Amino acid sequence: MSTAIATPANTPRIFCIGRNYAEHIAELGDMDASRCVVFMKSPSCVVHAGEAVHLPHDRGAVHHEAELVVQIGRAGHDIDEQSALQHVSALTLGLDLTLRDLQNELKAQGAPWERCKAFDNSAPLGDWVAYDSSADVAALQFQCEVNGELRQQGDTGNMLVPVPALIAMLSKTWRLHPGDIIFTGTPKGVGPLVAGDVVTLSSPSIGTFDWNMV
Ligand code: ZN
Repeated sequence: MSTAIATPANTPRIFCIGRNYAEHIAELGDMDASRCVVFMKSPSCVVHAGEAVHLPHDRGAVHHEAELVVQIGRAGHDIDEQSALQHVSALTLGLDLTLRDLQNELKAQGAPWERCKAFDNSAPLGDWVAYDSSADVAALQFQCEVNGELRQQGDTGNMLVPVPALIAMLSKTWRLHPGDIIFTGTPKGVGPLVAGDVVTLSSPSIGTFDWNMV
């Protein structure tokens, strides 16, 4: 077994899962749903609920991707799916903001996604609610509204790779640490945002969070 190197608890990592809902994969015209992708954002990308989100300008469309976000509370590596939820301490909702035109260019080049996914302000993040095992992360509804208009409706029951399997998968590559968070992928309905838009994420079991786009 390899020896894990400790990561300071005050520098959590942001793992993100792409291609985890079939209908979203289809809307992007990418029919190969065989494998989700993993990418990372920096903690400096986070914008807390109620703070202004400074959108990038002149770099093409910026899309909202509403996602369930899971916080790790207990360290572990090579975690098995059966015990994976014991490593979860809290849940919230977040936006995986994406420069879609740039992403399409980077995909065509086979290039990494940091410039389209990990730019400043690309991770609006709601307030955490403590997770306890009575909450069913496999049947959780959430939605995204833009200026009061419903754009995305998610049900975690539609994930291709459910939360326990995501934790198991990530923990094979990285020892997970308390404070690490996981954006779990977006359902269909992604679309562009412009300055002046108000985005509202909500879930009956988590809460309601708003951001103003500027
Ligand atoms: Zn996403």
